[in-house]
Amino acid sequence: MKVIKLFVNCNCKRNNYNSHLKKDQIKSLNFREPKKDISLNNDIDNKECDKISFVSHTSEIFWNDNWQYGEYSKIHNSPVKIYYSNIPEKKNKIICVNAGHGTVGGEKVMTYCHPDKSPKYISGSTTKGQVYAVAVSNGMIFQDGMPEAEVNLSLALILKEELLKAGYDVLMIRESDDCQSDNIARTVFANNNADCHIALHYDCSNMDKGLFYISVPDIEEYKNMEPVKPLWQIHNKLGEDLYFGAKISGVKVYEKKDYPIDLTQTSYSTIPSVVLEVGDRKSDYSSITQKRIALGIITGLDKFFGFEIQN
Ligand SMILES: [Zn+2]
Repeated sequence: MKVIKLFVNCNCKRNNYNSHLKKDQIKSLNFREPKKDISLNNDIDNKECDKISFVSHTSEIFWNDNWQYGEYSKIHNSPVKIYYSNIPEKKNKIICVNAGHGTVGGEKVMTYCHPDKSPKYISGSTTKGQVYAVAVSNGMIFQDGMPEAEVNLSLALILKEELLKAGYDVLMIRESDDCQSDNIARTVFANNNADCHIALHYDCSNMDKGLFYISVPDIEEYKNMEPVKPLWQIHNKLGEDLYFGAKISGVKVYEKKDYPIDLTQTSYSTIPSVVLEVGDRKSDYSSITQKRIALGIITGLDKFFGFEIQN
């Protein structure tokens, strides 16, 4: 993917920001606004640059073999990064933002669907009855030929900025085209370092049906499986609140609201966790639409954590 360098009027020496946003997304951002609104840089180690972002500091987290369920992951070479918000009204919650797909070679590796090695209950990208799932699938292709992984990433980067601005700290699973972490590793990273886990995806339908979430299937064996058992209600509550936040923020939502699948992410999560399908192959993924989705997610998180809803 093309990396576009942005040059802005910053006092520090390193005044070029690499961004994965596409040209039309960059055009829609107003660079004449106060500098703090253009904190697109992924390289925020320079202290002078920090002045124009909403980041106080960052922390890189590397894989730990001793983490629970760590032995089920096959790919976990990429560290994750936590960005801490610098705004005074900090919320002291770390949100794991997981841009779906984007692991080169991930579809050639298989991992257990469930930690108890039971077969899949409901067909998703893995068929019902399978014991193994691909470690990370490639994702779909939009009707205009754009790969889903790329669109998920642009949304994740917008969401990161908006979360920091709203006082949330952010754990970013992936900030480039290739993140060498399978779906289990992404979940285990989140379990051990975040307060909740949101995976961003676009569905493979062609209807522009709107945002919905993947809920926990109403299957007794699955709901009684560890670590789903103590958390399935809270996973669903997180999905419900994000759906609500999106809806009241003007995001196009799917009237059916949720679709149940026993996803790898849910099956290994020990914190509130949800997969959001924010659109599908036909949906608009412009920066304006993605920013609205990001703000909707934040409204939903405010509801979920009991903060005052801003919009
Ligand atoms: Zn996807």
